[in-house]
Amino acid sequence: VAKAQGGNRAVAFEQEMRDQALLRSSLEADLRTAVERAELFNVYQPVVGLLADGHMDPGAGVEALVRWRHPVRGLVSPIDFIGIAESTGLIHAIGEQVLATACRDFVAWQRQLSTAAPRLLAVNLSRAQLTQADLCDRVAAILAASGMPAAQLQLEITESLAAQGADIQHQLLGLKQLGVKLALDDFGTGYSSLSSLHLLPVDTVKIDRSFVSLAASSAHHKVLIEATVLVARSLGMTTVAEGIETLEQANVAHAQGCDKGQGYLYSRPLESAALQQWLTAHAAQPAAAH
Ligand code: C2E
Ligand code: MG
Ligand code: MG
Ligand code: MG
Repeated sequence: VAKAQGGNRAVAFEQEMRDQALLRSSLEADLRTAVERAELFNVYQPVVGLLADGHMDPGAGVEALVRWRHPVRGLVSPIDFIGIAESTGLIHAIGEQVLATACRDFVAWQRQLSTAAPRLLAVNLSRAQLTQADLCDRVAAILAASGMPAAQLQLEITESLAAQGADIQHQLLGLKQLGVKLALDDFGTGYSSLSSLHLLPVDTVKIDRSFVSLAASSAHHKVLIEATVLVARSLGMTTVAEGIETLEQANVAHAQGCDKGQGYLYSRPLESAALQQWLTAHAAQPAAAH
């Protein structure tokens, strides 16, 4: 019986592998046309300032997140297509579109919302973009074309990427020279550690959701957040707690010293119009928690 079950599992596994390979090649073909057909668009999630008593500053910033509205499959997650975009080289066109659109939207919000407008725009960079020789020129061109102030743009890279070699380091310094800010995304999930944080020219550390979600119930994770905040702060870096879903998690993040927070407790990622409504509504009552 055990052998038969093992055999069934192996068959099921092979089937799943085939399904995944099929999905991938079908998405790969579709992604090529998706860019031209404007099926990709940006959503924006508020990044709030964490204040005492569960209060928050709604205008601290937003993070741009790409979405794909597939004509048949509906919304496809970036987790399922960024990898494909990288291996096909489409990431360059997609990444530029995300950045250019986000900068244009950000500049428009400043005009339309004045004091309720977000003060920082975060945009994710992928591995392939970070190794692109003319990345700095491309970013500079987009800043110039959109009128986006460099100091209000934060480019996010993942921890495992930042830990790699002199080329990446050089690229990061080039971006810093443009005046943009850098953030280390998903901190705690990669291979670098607190002891190597000082080697990276980043302004902000974003503590991964896996730590934040456990911090309210696990003393171990609470201490890890506290240690990260202490080291980051000693290096002059700010910290963001990712994936805050409950008021308790927000309170723990604030108590451990995180400067900002991001998560469904405050808002899911929103399209531009809905984001503007959210910002306006929350700026009108700055003391309200959410
Ligand atoms: P990330 O940069 O760490 O972005 C945060 C992710 O966490 C987003 O997922 C966001 O929707 C999700 N999130 C935020 N708050 C909560 C919460 O309270 N609970 C839970 N469960 N999730 C929360 P999303 O939009 O699916 O993006 C996933 C990842 O895909 C991003 O992680 C980023 O690494 C990548 N990504 C997204 N957009 C882009 C892009 O334009 N370019 C590149 N290169 N990567 C992107
Ligand atoms: Mg990010
Ligand atoms: Mg992240
Ligand atoms: Mg994350």
